[in-house]
Amino acid sequence: MSGLNFDKRVHNFCAGPATMPKAVLEKAQNELLNWKNGGSSVMEISHRSADFTQIAQKSEQDLRKLMNIPDNYKVLFLQGGASLQFSTIPMNLLHGTADYLDTGIWSKKAISEAQRYEQAGLGKINVVASAKDSNYTSVPDISSWQLSENADYFHYCPNETIQGLAMFDVPNVTAPIVADMSSCILSTPIDVSKFGLIYAGAQKNIGPAGLTLVIVREDLLGNANLICPNTQNYKNQADNDSMLNTPATFAWYLSGLVFEWLLEQGGVEAIYQQNLEKARRLYDFIDNSDFYHNPVAKNNRSIMNVPFTLADSNLDKLFLEQSAQVGLLNLKGHKSVGGMRASIYNAIDLAAIDDLIGFMQHFENKRV
Ligand SMILES: *Cc1c(COP(=O)(O)O)cnc(C)c1O
Repeated sequence: MSGLNFDKRVHNFCAGPATMPKAVLEKAQNELLNWKNGGSSVMEISHRSADFTQIAQKSEQDLRKLMNIPDNYKVLFLQGGASLQFSTIPMNLLHGTADYLDTGIWSKKAISEAQRYEQAGLGKINVVASAKDSNYTSVPDISSWQLSENADYFHYCPNETIQGLAMFDVPNVTAPIVADMSSCILSTPIDVSKFGLIYAGAQKNIGPAGLTLVIVREDLLGNANLICPNTQNYKNQADNDSMLNTPATFAWYLSGLVFEWLLEQGGVEAIYQQNLEKARRLYDFIDNSDFYHNPVAKNNRSIMNVPFTLADSNLDKLFLEQSAQVGLLNLKGHKSVGGMRASIYNAIDLAAIDDLIGFMQHFENKRV
C-alpha cells in the first residue's frame, strides 16, 4: 500500500511514552548542543543555575496559564512516575480513611499501593465502588458509591488508559479530590479548583518519561506521615521549588517546550476541540462498522485512548503487521483487554486519525 505520506515520521499511537509534537523535537534538536548560546546542552547545566531557574519558572507559568491554576495551588515537578504517587499520596494525606473508586487497571494499582498503609496500620482504604461488574466498560452511578464520612481524600482516575474508560464530570463528593490524570491532563479544560491534588506522569500528554507533575492545594500540605521520605514530602518539595534533590532537568525543559507549543496551538480549549473531533471520527467509524468494536459505554469513552477489537481476533496479528507497514505504529492493545488500542494524545493530529481510519477501512474491505 502506498499513498500515505509520513514525512519520515510514523504515526505513533503508543500509549506511553507517546508521540511528541514534531515542532518541539525540532526546537530541542536545534538547541541541543548549545542552549541559548551558553555553549552547553540543558542536560549539562546545574539545576540551580540562573539558566535552569529560568526554564523552571517559565514552564510553571505556562502550565498555570494553560490550566488556569489558582494561586493557592503549588505545582511540583517530581520524579518516580505516577506509580510512585500511588504511595506518595497516602504518605502525605492519609490520616484516617481514604476513599478510592475502582474504574480500571490504574485505579486498582493505586488502591493496592494505598492498601499497604492500611496493612501497616496507618489508615483505612475504602473502595467506594468498582466498575468490575461491567468489565470496566461503564462507571457505577454515584448514588451507589459507599462514600465514607470525613474521608481524608477521594481518589479516582478520570481516564483509564488501558480500558479507554473516562469520567468527564468531576464527582460531586465532599472530600478533597485526588485525580490520576496521567493520560488526560491538558487534553480537556478542567476546573482545577474542584481538585485537592492532580498528578500525572509526563510521558503521555506532557513530555518525556522521567517527570511527574503534581498540582496540589496548599492547605493539604504539611501533614505528611513521619515515615514519608523527604523527597516524597510535598511540603518539602514545594518549599524547595521541586529541587530538594536534582530534578529531571531535561524532561522538565522538554515539557516546558510542549507547554509553549500548546499555548501556540491556542491552549487547552483549542486542543480539546481537535481531540473531540479526532475521537468522534474514530468512534463513528468503529460504530458504523460490523468489523470493529468498542465495548465502552458511550458517555464513558475516552477521547485519548481508544481500544477496539476485530470481529475475528485471528486477524489481530495481520492487522498489526500491515498497519506497521504503512507507518501506523503501536496499535496493539494491552494484554488484559486484547485487540487494538489507538492512543490519540494531543500530539496526534487529525491527519493521523484519517490515515488510521483509511487503513482500517482498507483492511476491513479486503475481508468482508
Ligand atoms: C501510564 C499511567 C500510569 C503509570 O505511570 P508511570 O509514570 O509509568 O508510573 C498511571 N496512571 C495512569 C492513568 C497512566 O496512564
